[in-house]
Amino acid sequence: MQKLPLFARSLFLILALVVAQSAFSWGLIGHRVVGRIAQSHLSKKAKKEIKKLIGSESLAWWANWPDFIKSDSTNKIKDPWHYVDLPGHMPKDSFIAALKLLPGKNLYTQIIEMKKQLGDYSLPVTQRREALYWMIHMIGDLHQPLHVGRDEDQGGNKITVYWFGQKTNLHSLWDTKFIESQSFSYSEYASELDIRSREENEALSAGTLEDWFADSHEASDRIYDASPDEAKLGYQYIYQFKDLLDTQLHKGGLRLAKILNEAFD
Ligand SMILES: [Zn+2]
Repeated sequence: MQKLPLFARSLFLILALVVAQSAFSWGLIGHRVVGRIAQSHLSKKAKKEIKKLIGSESLAWWANWPDFIKSDSTNKIKDPWHYVDLPGHMPKDSFIAALKLLPGKNLYTQIIEMKKQLGDYSLPVTQRREALYWMIHMIGDLHQPLHVGRDEDQGGNKITVYWFGQKTNLHSLWDTKFIESQSFSYSEYASELDIRSREENEALSAGTLEDWFADSHEASDRIYDASPDEAKLGYQYIYQFKDLLDTQLHKGGLRLAKILNEAFD
């Protein structure tokens, strides 16, 4: 790239980032919003233990690491840690039963596993530090409803939609394009969302991990119903789903704090 003028090099970098980002979950901003909100709701104990693992670096800083390591083929085996796929419109009880029966390692099994590792002080610091990176990221993925989507369309990846005329797919729309259309930085977005009372926050982070999965799956049903293949989406869609998007990001942050506070308790 040395021979290219500066503007061309910058353009190349921007293009590389755009291409790379389309393969990421919740996108850079979404994961950081979740991390930033969680940071303000950590217990004293959790803050102390997290400091031992990452010093003064923030949760938002590490929120996207598990997507970056995907580029190394030796980590391919961990791709299923980012999602679960289940049939749509299931009653909650059958959904939870099916979630628990999914074979192999997945978003659900690994959240449980990373929580265990974080609280196991006999494990090496390096291992617990990685468990923390994963936990920050996976609680974000759990709240992108299409990471708790359907198998037949790979969580919306196979559903083509047009976002303000631009061809994309439903998964990618919810990972990045919808969030980016709000034009907030991650810290602006987090502070706009994190304004509720203690009681409201407790209600948003109530329930078990299984309830949270069922919650996201139900949200994914709403999204699927409103976004068929070849749908043309724009302002009306923002009006319809902005509240869901905001709530998912907000819940993600509060619930990440809750699970970290429990893990280090
Ligand atoms: Zn992910």
